[in-house]
Amino acid sequence: MEIFRRFSLSFDNYTRTHNPIHISFCQDFFKRIYENGYIFEREIDQLYCENCRRFLPDRFVLGTCPHCGYNYARGDQCEACGRVLDPLDLKNPVCAICGSTPVVKTTRHWFLDLPRLAEPIRNWLAQNQHMHERVKAFSLSWIEEGLRPRAVTRDNKWGIPAPFPGAEGKTIYVWFEAVLGYISATVELGISRGDPSLWERYWLDKQTRTVFFIGKDNIPFHTIILPALLLAHGDGYVLPWNVSATEYLTFEGQKFSKSKRIGVWLDEALEILPSDYWRYYLVKIRPETSDTNFKWQDFISTVNSDLNDDIGNYIHRVLTFIYQYFGGRVPEPHELDDDDKRILAKITETRDRIDELMGEVRERQSLIEVLTLVKEANSYLNLKEPWKLQKTAPEKAATTLYTASQIVASLAIFLEIFTPDTARHLRNMIGIDFDLSGSWRQLGDIIIKPNTKIARPEPLFRKVSEKEVLQKSEGTHTG
Ligand SMILES: [Zn+2]
Ligand SMILES: [Zn+2]
Repeated sequence: MEIFRRFSLSFDNYTRTHNPIHISFCQDFFKRIYENGYIFEREIDQLYCENCRRFLPDRFVLGTCPHCGYNYARGDQCEACGRVLDPLDLKNPVCAICGSTPVVKTTRHWFLDLPRLAEPIRNWLAQNQHMHERVKAFSLSWIEEGLRPRAVTRDNKWGIPAPFPGAEGKTIYVWFEAVLGYISATVELGISRGDPSLWERYWLDKQTRTVFFIGKDNIPFHTIILPALLLAHGDGYVLPWNVSATEYLTFEGQKFSKSKRIGVWLDEALEILPSDYWRYYLVKIRPETSDTNFKWQDFISTVNSDLNDDIGNYIHRVLTFIYQYFGGRVPEPHELDDDDKRILAKITETRDRIDELMGEVRERQSLIEVLTLVKEANSYLNLKEPWKLQKTAPEKAATTLYTASQIVASLAIFLEIFTPDTARHLRNMIGIDFDLSGSWRQLGDIIIKPNTKIARPEPLFRKVSEKEVLQKSEGTHTG
């Protein structure tokens, strides 16, 4: 938990699905789906390992994917093509525990009647305006291929006991209950706040917008299984407003791995550079539309060019000029010319663009918009040259620095999204302290008033050398 705080990450509730609230919520939920007639019982063939003397959970079966031919597909899903599988679909299945070939045995299971829910899910997907086309197309193609009933129960010892009559000894398949954790987490939150009906306002109110942040391998569980469960329950739960599924991020070209220690650990990261540097770079390489790759070289050059040269230097130059030429007070503007007006208009343009992009959960593109604003503000400053005007036409220098300081103040708001520690530091430096939730609208007005006193400017970011970062990162591995 401490590490979250050190990265300035906050949340209303942090929970896992091993708590009693989740367990009883799931049991009630599935009981209801059963009563609504969406669960039926059927004898099925399942893979049984005679060597291990057990029915094999889906992910304990490995074999060849029937869709793409990948040889190490797991029984529940193929990592290569993303398809959700049934272990019996696999060609040449082997037991993942002992490597022997399992046999087919009959057992009894409880199924979710997905075919009956296909039409409402298809309609919801087709009408959803917010979801990325890629996510939508992937999910719709899954429905086109024909949804089959999916077994909700498993013969596992661990897991939530299935609440269906006659299902003693069976548990609910982990993926079917894990997605309900989104709801039970809000039940838990309400209880902890002494407001037990809180969750209903989140999940039963048509105005609620639920956004799910996942990797692309989890798409079907959020665009098919979760909506299916919510629809089958019948109480009018809101369906996902957006499922923001990213592509994959690799580390120096390799898959991140906890066991092989490929990656950077959060605590180690902070020994290398402060959290805002990481937050900025990670959003900049967020795999929003294609796979991306973390590279030390790229990290270093992004820190130096974006954070230090563009954002940091712009702010520092403006504040230093104000400090030196105007006694540390934002100057009174005189007549604004077209250049001044043009750059000021960019503030509202950037705000509106980010409004739109954030609605589509495109943080990376939003960050690019802020960077573009800064680059244009730097060009504006270079064009106006207030350091020269200051001697020849002090009124013009005042107008330029007044204008430039509005951009600085807008950054104190914009950067809150990406680099909150820096944004806070900047707000302290320029003496503005406002309620951030209300400040977004304020971006259209004068943000920092003439005569506002600023503190002695300090650089917000610093340049880093390759040597310094690579030395400090020696503890991290690239496999
Ligand atoms: Zn496959
Ligand atoms: Zn085995």
